Amino acid sequence: MDPTVLYSPAVESLSREELEQLQIERLQSTLNRVYRNVAFYRAAFDANRVNLETIREVRALADLPFTTKDDLHRSYPYDMFALPLRDIVRIHSSLAAGKPVVVGYTRNDLRNWTECTARLLVAAGITEHDVVQIALDYSLSSGGLGFHQGAEQIGASVIPAAQPASVEKQIAIMRDFKTTALIASPSHALGLAAALAEVHVHPEQLHLRLGIFGSERWSEQTRASLESQLHLVAMDTYGLADILGPGVAGECPQRCGLHVNEDHFIVEVIDPRTLQPLAAGQEGELVFTTITKEGFPLVRYRTGDIASVDFSPCACGRTTARLSRIARRCDDLIQFGGVGFFPGQIEQILTEIGRTSPHFQILLDRAGGVDTLEIKVEVSDLTPSLDEPRLLGALRTQIAERIKAALDVEAKVNFAEPKSLRAAAEKVVDKRPE
Ligand SMILES: [Zn+2]
Repeated sequence: MDPTVLYSPAVESLSREELEQLQIERLQSTLNRVYRNVAFYRAAFDANRVNLETIREVRALADLPFTTKDDLHRSYPYDMFALPLRDIVRIHSSLAAGKPVVVGYTRNDLRNWTECTARLLVAAGITEHDVVQIALDYSLSSGGLGFHQGAEQIGASVIPAAQPASVEKQIAIMRDFKTTALIASPSHALGLAAALAEVHVHPEQLHLRLGIFGSERWSEQTRASLESQLHLVAMDTYGLADILGPGVAGECPQRCGLHVNEDHFIVEVIDPRTLQPLAAGQEGELVFTTITKEGFPLVRYRTGDIASVDFSPCACGRTTARLSRIARRCDDLIQFGGVGFFPGQIEQILTEIGRTSPHFQILLDRAGGVDTLEIKVEVSDLTPSLDEPRLLGALRTQIAERIKAALDVEAKVNFAEPKSLRAAAEKVVDKRPE
């Protein structure tokens, strides 16, 4: 495919200056609208003595208060809507985790959403010649319909193969309808790949060439598995049910980050502890402000997702900011002895040392008023045996020293039997009193 194909070249390749001009105009009108129409924002802006007249550049966003998931939950069902229901033409909702959020879309919102997903699908390589099988939830959740609109807009042949169609049915559709592009969650796609052999279908009998995956975090290892098992190129996308659904950001053929639809969203990265903005390239919590949404606009919405942002132009021709792939969430952060670290950082250290399995368990406790940290690590074929206590002790020390150097925490390292921890119900066991 021609890597220079852009769905909306006029906006996807604006200079940073032009883009920021567009963003500030749309931001100002969004802020005025939410102040007028949403009681939550009127109260929040007044409480923080926000003077909307002073918001004249994108950077001034830092003066505005945040919106959190709890705020959305408290507004259930319609208190965050900026327009009356007669202007809303579609309602989606995430009912997960007992904290439902209801999102309303106006006709213009649907049009913009379609444009956003169409752009990401084109960036991923979808064309009008593709047969696109969408194996996502098509009900209350926004995943299925969100991608559906965009794929139809491009002119692809779209198959709404909604979950929960059985794996066998998905594979039969894929084979018989000659699907060329699969849109699914990475875990569902891995399930399909595993089932291929059971139903005696070889990936060579399929016509798949592209996979577009999202709606959960997935690693580069998963990417490699999907590509080798399904014989396709796997592309990452990023969306958020709370602000839009799919269509916020997605990879281009360069695969060096996910391009954000910046004419519809302003992205910031903050330190989740100090809440201060971080510079480009620094990893922190992603915060989004919607600047075209009419039904359900959000200002500085804290996503809980950890990533960094690169504002430099991309070799694909797009100038829009790129998110690094989402590796973890703020909720995963472990507070310990005045510092914070993520379980994924321990995994990285173990993988780098390479003498154990990457499976481990983190045990937190308190003794004599002091927090304690123990890391239980599963041994592998490369770990010294119990008959070599000196070598085993040296490895234990090496792991503890690497953890100390990288995370600034003192950890006691102990070894566990092979395969004893990978099925552990909890990766982190925190017995510290509140
Ligand atoms: Zn690019």
